Amino acid sequence: MSMSSAAVAEVGGPYAAALAQFDRAADQIGLEPNLRAVLRVPKRELTVNFPVEMDDGSIHVFTGYRVQHNLTRGPAKGGIRYYPSTDLDEVRALAMWMTWKCAVINLPYGGAKGGVTVDPRALSRHELENLTRRYATEIIPLMGPDSDVPAPDIGTNEQVMAWIMDTYSMHKGYSVPAVVTGKPVAIGGSEGRAQATAMGMLVATREVLRRLGRPLGGTVAVQGAGNVGRGVLELFSAAGFQITAISDHRGGLYNPRGLDAARLSAHLRDGGWVSACEGVGDPISNAELLQLDVDVLTPAAVEGQIHAGNAANVRAPLIVEGANGPITPEADAHLHDRGVTIVPDILANAGGVTVSYFEWVQDLQQFFWSSDQITRRLSRHMRTAVQSVWDLAEAQRVSLREAAYQIAIARVAEATRLRGIYP
Ligand code: NAD
Repeated sequence: MSMSSAAVAEVGGPYAAALAQFDRAADQIGLEPNLRAVLRVPKRELTVNFPVEMDDGSIHVFTGYRVQHNLTRGPAKGGIRYYPSTDLDEVRALAMWMTWKCAVINLPYGGAKGGVTVDPRALSRHELENLTRRYATEIIPLMGPDSDVPAPDIGTNEQVMAWIMDTYSMHKGYSVPAVVTGKPVAIGGSEGRAQATAMGMLVATREVLRRLGRPLGGTVAVQGAGNVGRGVLELFSAAGFQITAISDHRGGLYNPRGLDAARLSAHLRDGGWVSACEGVGDPISNAELLQLDVDVLTPAAVEGQIHAGNAANVRAPLIVEGANGPITPEADAHLHDRGVTIVPDILANAGGVTVSYFEWVQDLQQFFWSSDQITRRLSRHMRTAVQSVWDLAEAQRVSLREAAYQIAIARVAEATRLRGIYP
């Protein structure tokens, strides 16, 4: 599907969007020019070209990236993406967004992101493992439990994290579970990580609906049916919301009376495309899904999906960003002017990195928490962050995105001032 690249090109790419968001909030808090210059750029960028032997004996050279945007508040943290159009511009933006996300939810981390330009669905399991182990080896100079801790993102999952953990451990000569999060529970993963992003979105959605004086339920349209989108389908429907539409990159399904979440979720867990799940709803395109008259819209796929060309047609009064950067700055301004409430990515989808933090802490102390403890701690982190962002937005009369950025940038700036510039 070409819509994401077209939409993103219109505003100069995700990194241009990330810089525009940063500049606006930096202006609003009067960030001094010296600090602005430091925080505006990624600290380290690694590009790797590496060979992988394919099943037919041929050698394919892939390109991958790991970008660390900022390390001032702690080790770098951020996912690894396998996606056909992933490039340095996208990974830079995602790394910067991780810095602000970790700061707004107040985790002791900096921000990073990684990616490989590849369609993982086109690889065999053996090729995927080869690619993962070689990419992991190439980024070992940056990776480590005290320096840079990857996690899953688009096109990667807990099996990929297991291979990364094993590859790093083989190089060290002993097991290092804390080098990566989002692992299977059997090798040091955390209870609750798989659905953590969607769980955080549910907590944030309810907190915001309560503050808006609206019912804690209603209809929901979800773009994306992967780790995040499927989690939204499962958790929001269990919490009394009605999921009326869901899609993947091939298109989606719509049922105004509500989709059968249990059937769809079983179908998705078996690896099926949304549109191939028969008898639950009518076909709908991604473009149509974004324009549905629903109470809550949750983009949970890729960047730039709501842009200047379609923002006027978006009818949902509340958008909760499961994806990173799904709304371009132009569309964001238009929607805000129209009174649409947007819970921004760096707040809305921070549940994933929060439970990744819990996983890292558990691995380091080699003492594991129950699923109930994870859910309670995650809810507390999310509620505290929503409260502070909401209060600042009200006090300053700015959007939730601007308030979240103001809080995040101020925290990283304070840490930078205290540490000083070496030497
Ligand atoms: P995933 O690979 O599990 O699923 C991605 C889904 O998006 C798939 O259903 C895919 O078909 C769909 N998709 C891909 N390109 C699309 C397009 N152009 N149009 C419509 N649909 C498209 O990925 P994920 O982990 O669910 O991540 C989804 C989003 O959430 C990303 O923006 C990611 O950065 C963000 N996110 C993920 C996590 C996490 O814990 N996995 C945490 C925070 C944010």
